[in-house]
Amino acid sequence: VAAPETHAFEADVSKLLHMMVHSVYSDRDVFLRELISNAADACEKMRYEAISSPALLGDDPQSRITLTLDKDAGTLVVEDNGIGMTAADMAETLGTIARSGTKAFMENLVAEKNGDGHQLIGQFGVGFYSAFMVARKVEVVSRRAGEPGAAIWSSDGLGTYTVAPLDAAAAPARGTRVTLHLLDDAKAYAERYTVERIVRAQSGHVPVPIVLREGASDEEPHQVADGVALWTKAKSDISDDDYADFYRSLAGQFDKPALTLHYRAEGRHEYSVLTFIPESRPFDLFDADRSGRIKLYVRRVFITDEAEILPRYLRFVRGLVDSADLPLNMSREMIQDSPVLSAIQKGVSNRILAELDKLATSEPERYAAIWENFGAVIKEGLYEDFERREALLGLARFKSTTSDGMWRSLNDYLGSLKENQTAIYYATGNDLDRIAQSPQLEGFKARGIEVLLLPDQVDSFWTTMGLDYEGKPFKSVTQGTADLSLIPLTEGSSSKEPSEEANRFIAFAREALADQVSEVRVSDRLTSSAVCIVAPENAMDLQLKKMLASAGR
Ligand code: ADP
Ligand code: MG
Repeated sequence: VAAPETHAFEADVSKLLHMMVHSVYSDRDVFLRELISNAADACEKMRYEAISSPALLGDDPQSRITLTLDKDAGTLVVEDNGIGMTAADMAETLGTIARSGTKAFMENLVAEKNGDGHQLIGQFGVGFYSAFMVARKVEVVSRRAGEPGAAIWSSDGLGTYTVAPLDAAAAPARGTRVTLHLLDDAKAYAERYTVERIVRAQSGHVPVPIVLREGASDEEPHQVADGVALWTKAKSDISDDDYADFYRSLAGQFDKPALTLHYRAEGRHEYSVLTFIPESRPFDLFDADRSGRIKLYVRRVFITDEAEILPRYLRFVRGLVDSADLPLNMSREMIQDSPVLSAIQKGVSNRILAELDKLATSEPERYAAIWENFGAVIKEGLYEDFERREALLGLARFKSTTSDGMWRSLNDYLGSLKENQTAIYYATGNDLDRIAQSPQLEGFKARGIEVLLLPDQVDSFWTTMGLDYEGKPFKSVTQGTADLSLIPLTEGSSSKEPSEEANRFIAFAREALADQVSEVRVSDRLTSSAVCIVAPENAMDLQLKKMLASAGR
């Protein structure tokens, strides 16, 4: 057996470790949820591989997670008979920031500069490294299913780790054993009462049974969680807390679901759906490579989380779909192209939009909170998803010149159209308050016309698509003549007939700016400012022009 090799963690990882260990972390218990969720993932991967290679299961076909406590030694062991890791796997996955969320999290920290991360870390799951919140040393022994050799990974979490081959006799037949040498102030995690309580509270519904054993005692290990997948249970047997715990272990998030959707589709295709809309925004929501996070199961066997079950603009939804009629022995690639999967994609996407719509009517405040977090993402659907555009316009909420900071629907907007008003007016920009101050709004204000304020990047795109709602076109206040003259001024506002002086000024300005502007004219838009710049009718919106210019186009 060769000597252990020493490696340094990726720079960001050692920073993360340091921060976690030294932060006054309010809820250290979560390390156990992270380790159990990794163990459960590994068991699910094993089940999937066993479909094509049943021999890998040997004489131990039943997935299991075993927790072993040793008070005297001060250790807690989390062991699974899942897929396992080779030495190379360990160096790659345990020494680097594997998941995009963790990366986004670190970038947030760096951006925050002086921040110590206390607040951020409280909102975010940090995976395997959370073990160092309670352990002075972590050892991982693992053997990849079907591989003759095993390996051991070890670290004190202070900047380096070692990986070494291990005599197979010292390793499980397959799977991973994570041993935590507990810190002095974390010895409670070797006590049965504490560990049972935490597992029941956090991981009671992972789809793999969890048993607990006390090191020195000869007692049979006893079961703390039965491994019955939550989504297969009757809704009436599931409490809000059960859903919340399941959501946290599934999503690695610390918040609660803002909306839970659990149903069984029957008919042409049979499948169960359990999805959650998070209560807070994940850090990587706008990462270009953030993909959807809906897991696909076939009759309780995890197949893939890359099936893109939902459209990109619903990428914040977490959860799973368990199909009863996809064949198990189909490759992941073939599943992607299967008509059953397209039916599921369609059904689940429509159902989520319908559910949001229902919530918007029955509990507008809860809906507004969801829109506040994810509206900017949902609006991407306005130009990506032609088929559901009407539904999405119905779900869209906006702040406006008259909404006083509240969210308005397009139906609300249509309900307060002014006499002779034929368009839905909007103004785009980067900052809500600055848009609201724009001189281009004056003529609208003077007529009491509501103007939608659109501060998100995505707004500059969907508004160029010539959309309308209930026959009323969207029209930018910076584009063309605002045809306001037909709409009466509200009391107290005054209209200015172009005076002799104004006409003289216009003639002067046309000459002076001849090369820079296409037209100079008296406008109904302004009431107290002297001039403003507008884009010609049918030309690119000003905000979009600015964005393209800054992107070098
Ligand atoms: P995540 O679970 O989100 O990928 P973690 O930090 O929890 O992030 O784990 C990093 C990676 O380490 C996992 O993706 C997996 O590849 C590997 N890993 C961790 N624990 C186990 C385990 N018990 N069995 C197999 N692989 C594991
Ligand atoms: Mg994990």
